[in-house]
Amino acid sequence: MMAEAATLTGRVALVTGAGKGIGRACALALANAGARVVVNYRGSVAAAQAVVAEIAASGGQAHAIGADVSQAAEVERLFAETTAAFGPVEILVNNAGITRDGLLLRMSEEDWDAVVTTNLKSVFLCTKAAMRGMLRAKWGRIVTIASVAGINPNKGQANYAAAKAGIIAFTKASAREVASRNITINAVAPGFIETDMTAALPAEMRAAADTMIPLERFGRPDEVAAAVAFLASPGASYITGQVLVVDGALA
Ligand code: NAP
Repeated sequence: MMAEAATLTGRVALVTGAGKGIGRACALALANAGARVVVNYRGSVAAAQAVVAEIAASGGQAHAIGADVSQAAEVERLFAETTAAFGPVEILVNNAGITRDGLLLRMSEEDWDAVVTTNLKSVFLCTKAAMRGMLRAKWGRIVTIASVAGINPNKGQANYAAAKAGIIAFTKASAREVASRNITINAVAPGFIETDMTAALPAEMRAAADTMIPLERFGRPDEVAAAVAFLASPGASYITGQVLVVDGALA
């Protein structure tokens, strides 16, 4: 199976927040395409190690590195340790993200800062760190997980929607800066995907979401990962600064 889809053989990929959910699926998909994958996690060490073991069991190479990607010093260490393990990052998937939902009048400054720092500042820090090596290599692929919330925001998510809309603008601006060096930067905007993040939604909200999705179901993490793997693949070499929506026609 690996040889058939091995379009990224030997490439060094880093996926942030890859112990579970969409990040885990991205790590598996990139490994399946032949990449050597760093599985970043913040707290879920056992889950990250399980992803590494799963990749190794199917003949791939992976390595788990703990780091909080919202902090500059941690990101610096993450990239140094990645380079030491596998070499400079060639494919970066900015996936790490959190929600702290609530209506604006009740949203604390801490909830604002946590979401914007984790979801948006981390993308700035990791993209900048990855770019240095990519500029030298004159090749790079960066894919950031945005959200349909950054395109058609819902109430109760002002912090998350602002961060995800920021990711989309950041993607378009940064893509233009490095396009001449053969580095592509794109975003994938999922709708409702079956992960711990949506499992935490109230049951009535999940049921209401189901009825709004023309494909009549939540998506699976591997369905988002397929879009990410495509944007990292040779087939996507002329696509940059774009947002690929994976939402069952919700938005
Ligand atoms: P999830 O299952 O809750 O996973 C989130 C991941 O992010 C975890 O692995 C977590 O690691 C990691 N993370 C959080 N803060 C981090 C930090 N500071 N440093 C490093 N890692 C950190 O959520 P998910 O649904 O897979 O979400 C993945 C991405 O997709 C997020 O950006 C989310 O906004 C986006 N998204 C999800 C949906 C959806 O419906 N699920 C829809 C649109 C967009 P630890 O567990 O180790 O803390």
